Amino acid sequence: MSARQDIAALKHAFAALVGAANVLDSAADMAAYETGARYDKGRAALVVRPADTAEVSAVVRHAVANGIRLIPQSGNTGLVSGSTPDESGNQVVLSLDRLNRVFELDRDNRSVRLDVGHRLSDVNARLEPEGLHFPIDLGADPRIGGMLATNTGGARFLRFGDVRKNVLGIKVVVADAEGTVLDFMSGLRKNNTGVDWKQVFIGTSGAFGIITECEINLELMPRQTAAALLVPREGAAVMPLLREMEIRLGSYLSAFEGMSRNAVESAFRHVGSLRNPFANGVVPDYAILAEVTRSWDARAGEQPLDAVIEEVLGEIWESAPGLLEDALVGSPAELWALRHALSEGVKHRGRMVAFDLAFRRQDVIAFCDWMKQNMPARFPDVAICDFGHIGDGGVHFNLVFEDASRYSAGRETELREWVYEVAVSDFGGSFSAEHGIGRKNQPTYDRYTHADVAAPADGLKSMISPGPLGAVRFGRN
Ligand SMILES: Cc1cc2nc3c(=O)[nH]c(=O)nc-3n(C[C@H](O)[C@H](O)[C@H](O)COP(=O)(O)OP(=O)(O)OC[C@H]3O[C@@H](n4cnc5c(N)ncnc54)[C@H](O)[C@@H]3O)c2cc1C
Repeated sequence: MSARQDIAALKHAFAALVGAANVLDSAADMAAYETGARYDKGRAALVVRPADTAEVSAVVRHAVANGIRLIPQSGNTGLVSGSTPDESGNQVVLSLDRLNRVFELDRDNRSVRLDVGHRLSDVNARLEPEGLHFPIDLGADPRIGGMLATNTGGARFLRFGDVRKNVLGIKVVVADAEGTVLDFMSGLRKNNTGVDWKQVFIGTSGAFGIITECEINLELMPRQTAAALLVPREGAAVMPLLREMEIRLGSYLSAFEGMSRNAVESAFRHVGSLRNPFANGVVPDYAILAEVTRSWDARAGEQPLDAVIEEVLGEIWESAPGLLEDALVGSPAELWALRHALSEGVKHRGRMVAFDLAFRRQDVIAFCDWMKQNMPARFPDVAICDFGHIGDGGVHFNLVFEDASRYSAGRETELREWVYEVAVSDFGGSFSAEHGIGRKNQPTYDRYTHADVAAPADGLKSMISPGPLGAVRFGRN
C-alpha cells in the first residue's frame, strides 16, 4: 500500500465496519499510537478502533483479504517495539482500547470474565471493594490484552506467578480469510482434556491471533503488608539470603527485588521526593526489597507482620552471620516508591540500552558480577544500572552511556550482541524474561532460536492464522 488513494479506500472500508469516528488518519490523532513507551516511533497507515469481538473479526477479514498487516495494540506500554507500526507507513494499528464493556465478576469462582481493553488499574479499582485483585503487579498501567499477549511477569511473580498462570480462558480472532473467532472460555482451573490452546496465544505478542475477551484468576488482596530493605554482605550472600527467607516465611514472602547502587542513586537523583532510607544516607553496592503479606486482617494475639519480618531477620543474623550487612524494616509504600522509581531514574541518567534477562536464580548475581568485571575493558563509557525481580531469576540489566554523545546505533548493536552472547550462550539465560518479542529483539530471537522451535511455530502459524498479523515472526512468516 503506497498511494494515498489506497489508504483512502481502506479508510472507507474500515469506517463501514467500525464507524468513521473510530478510524484515525491524521498525524495528530495517530501520534500516540505510533510512539512506543521507549524511543521507538513508527508510521501507521491508519489506526482502527473496533468495539467488540465481531468488529475485530470483520476488520481482520478485510485486512487478510487485502494483505494488510495489522499491529494489535493495547496499553502501548510494551518495551520491545511490538505494539507500534514500523516506518513503512503500510501497517494498520488495531487498537483494542474500546474493548472495555464486558466485566462479569464470578465471586464463587474467584475470577472475572472481561473484555481485554480494560486497564489493569481500572480492573483492580473495580475489584477493590470485593477484596480481590488481579495479582500481576508492575510499574506501568497496561491493558489486560497486552498483558496476556506479553505474558507479563512483575514484582510479585515469586508469589503469584506470571499472567500465564492466571488465565482461565480466552476468546481470540485469528488472521484467516474468515476472521474466525476461537472460543476457549472455559473458566475452569482444572481442565486436562487435551491441548491447552489458550497458551499458544499467551506470550506470543499477537502473532497467532488477537485476544478479545478473557477470564482471569483473582486473588485475595493483601490486608497486612510489611517490607524491609536488606543489605547483603556481598553478592554471594544474595541467594542464601533468599533461601533463608523462603524457608522461614513460606508463601508469606511476596517479593524479593534486587537494586544496584547505580540504579538507586539514579532514582534519588531523578525523583527529589524520595527519602533515602539507608544508614547515614550511604547507598550500598546492592540492596534487596523484601515484602511479606497476609490476606486477612490482623487478629488479636497474632504477631504483627512487621514483628514477623524483624524476628526472621534477627534469626538469619544469628544463624547465618555472613549474610547480612544491614537490614531495616520500613514503610512498604516508601520502599516500593523507591523500587518503582528505578526505571525512570536510570532512563534519565544518559542514553540507556535496556536488557530484560532471566537466569537460573543463582546465576543472576554471577552474571552481573562477571559483567561488572569485564565491562570496563570492552565498554569503558557504559555504566551498569541493574535491578530486577531477583527472586524469580529476572534482571533488568540496564546499561547507560552517561555521556549520550558516546552513544551510536553501531555501538548499541555491538553492545547488544556481546551481552546476549554472554547471557544466553555462556550463562544459559533467556534474552527476554518478561517483555516478550517485538521488532526490537526479533534479530535476537532469530539468532538464538533453534530450528526445532522455529519450524513448528511456523507450521502452527500457517495452519491457524496464516494472514499477516503483529510485529513479530516466530517462524519464517
Ligand atoms: C515503566 C514500565 C515498567 C514495566 N514493568 C514491567 C514488569 O515489571 N514486568 C513486565 O512483564 N513488563 C513490564 N513492562 C512492560 C509492559 O508494561 C508489559 O509488557 C505489558 O503487559 C504490555 O501491555 P500493554 O497493554 O501495554 O500492551 P502493548 O504494549 O499495547 O502490546 C504488547 C504486545 O502485545 C500485542 N498485543 C496487545 N494487545 C493484544 C491483544 N489483545 N491480542 C493479541 N496481541 C496483543 C502487541 O501487538 C504487542 O506485541 C513495563 C513497562 C514500563 C513502561
